[in-house]
Amino acid sequence: MVDEPEGTRSDGHHAMHLETGVALVNALTGSHVHGRPKPELGGHDLISAAAEALGPVDGQVDLLVAERLRTVASRLREIIESLSRREHDQAAGLLNRMLADSRARPYLHRHGEQSWHLHFHSPDADFVQQWASGLAVSVAAALGDHIPHRVGLCAAPRCDQVYIDASQAQIKRFCGLACQNRVKAAAYRARRSGS
Ligand SMILES: [Zn+2]
Repeated sequence: MVDEPEGTRSDGHHAMHLETGVALVNALTGSHVHGRPKPELGGHDLISAAAEALGPVDGQVDLLVAERLRTVASRLREIIESLSRREHDQAAGLLNRMLADSRARPYLHRHGEQSWHLHFHSPDADFVQQWASGLAVSVAAALGDHIPHRVGLCAAPRCDQVYIDASQAQIKRFCGLACQNRVKAAAYRARRSGS
């Protein structure tokens, strides 16, 4: 039946979904990136940003789908921001609502002769509901596994990108080197001008 150990399989699955969730949040929401204002996307830009964040989904994303995905991304952002403030009760409440609204429910599915695999959306879910339930389940799994610190909000000024912290020590504070260096340079300038 299921040909991989359940744990390995769903860990990999959830980790992949978490990355897609972060990509969606950063692509479709937020007002600043690396110190610069981020324009709100519309039309074709919104469609291609959504499709790129999801990976290979040829032809599935039109404007309506992209706008619904942006709503999903906004809800995810709210959850990740709660987690980054360590407001776990709030994050759990938001996640439970997202799980209910997307009608997430596990069921085993098999394409032809392939092995059975676990889906997290109801069988009649549409494209956006499939993503919403998959993403909600994966963030919920991260929270339920007591690793909520693995997602966070960039600590640099004028940047609201979110990130996954894969480091063992969990010391990541910035979305990437661009913001880390920006903050270091500002601290250096402040020390110079202070002396
Ligand atoms: Zn940043």
